[in-house]
Parts: sequence; C-alpha cells; structure tokens
Amino acid sequence: MRNLYQAAADAAICYAEHLDGRSVFPLKADIERLQELDVPLQEEPVDPAVVLADLDRLGSPATVATTGGRYYGFVTGSSLPAATASAMLAAAWDQNGSYRALSPINAALEEVASRWLLDVLGLPADAGVGFVTGGTMANFTCLAAARHAVLQSAGWDVEAQGLFGAPPITVIVGDEVHASALKAIRLLGLGSERVVRVPADNQGRMRAELLPVISGPTIVLIQAGNVNSGAFDPAAEVIEKAHQAGAWVHVDGAFGLWTLASKNHTHLTAGFNQADSWAMDAHKWLNVPQDSGLAIIRSAVNQRAAMSATAAYLIAGSDREPCHYTPEMSRRARGVEIWAALRSLGRSGLSDLVNRTCTYARLFAAGLTGAGYEVLNDVVINQVLVSFGSPERTQAVVRAVQDEGTTWCGGTVWQGHTAMRISVSSWATTEDDVTRSLQAILNAAAAH
Ligand SMILES: *Cc1c(COP(=O)(O)O)cnc(C)c1O
Repeated sequence: MRNLYQAAADAAICYAEHLDGRSVFPLKADIERLQELDVPLQEEPVDPAVVLADLDRLGSPATVATTGGRYYGFVTGSSLPAATASAMLAAAWDQNGSYRALSPINAALEEVASRWLLDVLGLPADAGVGFVTGGTMANFTCLAAARHAVLQSAGWDVEAQGLFGAPPITVIVGDEVHASALKAIRLLGLGSERVVRVPADNQGRMRAELLPVISGPTIVLIQAGNVNSGAFDPAAEVIEKAHQAGAWVHVDGAFGLWTLASKNHTHLTAGFNQADSWAMDAHKWLNVPQDSGLAIIRSAVNQRAAMSATAAYLIAGSDREPCHYTPEMSRRARGVEIWAALRSLGRSGLSDLVNRTCTYARLFAAGLTGAGYEVLNDVVINQVLVSFGSPERTQAVVRAVQDEGTTWCGGTVWQGHTAMRISVSSWATTEDDVTRSLQAILNAAAAH
C-alpha cells in the first residue's frame, strides 16, 4: 500500500510540475494513444502498480490542463493546492457522506464549511446548505425546495401527491437563463417550454420593468453572473416585486455569486442576499476539485421537506444529516475540499482570488481592444467576449488558438454574435500567463 500510494503521489507531483511546459489541450497523438486502454478485460487480476503506471503513462498526457494557469474555457476553476491535497487524503478515507453515522468527519466539515460560507458570502446564517455535484444539481435542489414551498402555500403536498392535479406553478426566467437551469426545471416536471421569459438587455440582464404581473404559485429565477458576459440581473428590483406577490426567488449564481466575498463588487451584488435560494459552484471560482456545488436555501425546512427520503426532517432538534439537504443519499465527502479551500484562503485569500481574476479579465480586454478587436461585453467580472470580425474569422481564430496550445479559449454565440469567450477562473493564473496567452491569441488573430 505504501509504495502504491507513494507512486500515486509521485505521479501527481510530476504531472503538476510538467503542466506549464505542455500544450493546454492534449496533442492529437496523445488522444489517439488512448486506444491502448481499449483492450479486452483480461481474466486474471493485474498488479495495482501496473494499473496506476498505465493510467499515468496514457492518461496524464491526454488530460486538458485545466489546473494550469492558461485554461480559460467554459467557466472552469482549477483546484487549490490545499483542496487537491485534501482530496488525496479524502480518497484514502473514502467516506460515505450521506449520514452522520457513516461519516462524523464529513458531517462536521460540512457544518463548519456551511457556517464559513454563509458568513463570508453574507447570506442568512441559518440557511440550509446542500453539498451537491455542481451548479445543475444546485439549481435542481433549490428549485425543488421552491416547488415544495409555493405548492404548500397553495394547500398542495407535492412530495406526497406529485404534480398530477396540482395547482400550476408559473416559472419566470430571464431570456438569458442558463441551459442547466432549464434542465433542472425539466427534471422537476415544471417544463422548460412552460417558462415565462422576461426580455434581457444588451448585457444579458433581465429587464426588471418587463417582469409580468405575478399571481398564484410562482418561482422567479434570476442570475448572478451570465455565463457569457458575467452580467448580474437587477436583483433588488426583481426580488422586491416578486416578494410583494408572494413568489419564491431563486438565484443561479454558479460562479458570479462568489463576488459576494469581495468588497469590490457591491454595485453588482446588491440585493441578491434577499433571495430565497442560491445555487453555486464550488468547482468554478472557489477552485476545489470537480464535482462540487452548493444548494443554499434560506428556509432549511423547505430544503429538508424536498430532499429527505423519509419524514425524519420532522424530528425537531435532531442533528443535521447531510443527505437531508441533497438529492443523493450515498456520495463522497465533498465538504472536505470546500473546508480545506476556505481554511487555506481565509477571507482575504478568497476576496483576492476573485479580484485578481477580474483584474486579469480586464487585462485581456484591454489588450484585445488595444489591438483593434471588439470586446462585446462590459467586463464587469471575469468574463470577456471578443469578436475578430466575421463569424468565420472568429471561429478560425478560436480553432487556431486551441491548436497552438499556449492557451485554450472556447467559442460562443453572444446575442447573435460569434465570439471567443475568455473566463479567468483559476487561482493558478499569473500576470505572466495572461501576457503569454494574450500574445498567443493576437498571433492567431494576425495569421487569420
Ligand atoms: C456552470 C453553470 C451552471 C451549471 O453548473 P454545472 O456545475 O456545470 O452543473 C449553471 N449556471 C451557470 C450560470 C453556470 O455558469
């Protein structure tokens, strides 16, 4: 065991040390070599040391270097050293995070991490927190609690009776709603095409003045951090109107809500803490390993009503059971890395991480604008959308950047315009990474 675990640690160290010198996206030849993994399952066991060595030899080169400093695709965090190291230890623990009786350490870390999170984000101290797989399941969990609450107000027990014959629920979203939130709405039986869409402005923000008149059981879904532009919906206005009409307001804040931890962004975040639930991704801007999201719900009783497998949530004064806050029962002890990340960063470290990456996004935008290219969004947080002219040319530049390997940025379509999206979400990104990546992008653009 000692030699094997040591070999795993050595391989991980070697991987991390060589990351800076390799192509951010794996080379074609390295992806093709993955075929060597595709052998018929042999009859006899294989030495675990050989299994690990094969995985490192074939697998490590075929990874996308998202833990390095020059990956800006989708919205992707790296993993902080404390988080990765803790995850390595937690893999050896292999705790089942469902019940306190299965893992007192997970239950304890979730409670501490929840308290720290709610405090550093300025959310209600007694809110419920579920440790889920990511933003999609965080949206799902929060919206399930919302579904419970709005139907309970209408005299309907959705957990017991389902949706057949239930009073209809109106779900109001902004026109720029994230696809994952619509997926959650679909999974909950609320119908992604039944939603009422409120038009968005040129940054992707819901236009509060166009919010329809609300009556009956209603959920309003707003965003903190548009996945393309990074824009924030006007929370204060929307929430006030929605609450006056008795609606539940849910915030999809997968990455954007981490700005609550920084004093530099209060002009964007004002009012968001008045919502009823908040979905966040820890594997994005907090920089913990995949897969890690947070479903935060003001009234924990609604969360337990929607998520408990039994009526155990009715037992007053009992200890918090992790699985009463999540769709999953058995799962890994995700609280470990969130605790470790927060502990290692501290308040100032978290705030610095958010502010630093936003500064780098502005550096990208300035460099691109300075070279004559059009930045399509107001760079309010860590997201930059740039056009290199026609859709064809922009797509060609995106491909060239990805193939060249210094950096990796994805393509997107923003309000009808083809663009390259740069999302600076990693603790590992340095100013030198930004300089090198910007140069690689400008070189690719000049060649097309
Ligand atoms: C990433 C993202 C999601 C989905 O999160 P996953 O972790 O991929 O499930 C939802 N909403 C927004 C705004 C996002 O950026």
